[in-house]
Amino acid sequence: MKFVARALVVSVVVALASCSPLRRHRLVDVETLPRPPKLDVHYATTENFTHQRLYPRAKVFLHQDAARALAAVQTDLARDGLRLKVFDGYRPLSVQQRMWDLIRDERYVSNPAVNRGRHTRGTAVDVTLVDSRGRELPMGTNYDDFSEKAHPGFAGLPERVKRNRARLAEVMTRHGFEVYPYEWWHFDLKNWKRYPVLDVGIDELAAGQKLAAPVDD
Ligand SMILES: [Zn+2]
Repeated sequence: MKFVARALVVSVVVALASCSPLRRHRLVDVETLPRPPKLDVHYATTENFTHQRLYPRAKVFLHQDAARALAAVQTDLARDGLRLKVFDGYRPLSVQQRMWDLIRDERYVSNPAVNRGRHTRGTAVDVTLVDSRGRELPMGTNYDDFSEKAHPGFAGLPERVKRNRARLAEVMTRHGFEVYPYEWWHFDLKNWKRYPVLDVGIDELAAGQKLAAPVDD
């Protein structure tokens, strides 16, 4: 009887895990990758261009295809003693709408009424390069600097900065990402428009992650 009850509990937990929002939407927590990137989620703090805390916690989720590509980038970078720092990944559509209402400039924030966003599909990621001690390589501007200087091809930059930007773009494009012409830190997975737009909250995904944890038998 004890065995039957135990088997029932395990099967219920497995059933709940299989319908967790993470699995249902094919999203992956980047901290669970074999070589996790460093995280610096500005939108989980008030230290961002909106001065509002837009995410309830510092978590970065990506569509599994983008997560796989990011893992390959990390493997390449590790050979040179480098890795990625990730600022942002999946963004719920309702948060995208809040950002658009504040900025209303399609170069820097996707208009949800036009393409329903890039980050909203879990296929866009904002990144920079860090060295083995976690220090950012100079890229010429801070993250979310909405000026021409942040355009990846901006000419008036020191050679060292140009090389760093080129290195980041090269490794990201080698593994299936596309450069975005207005922000050196933003990359979209190829064919991103084919992926569905989501509006699942960061907290809901994080809670689902607990459900999807391995069953301790
Ligand atoms: Zn971005």
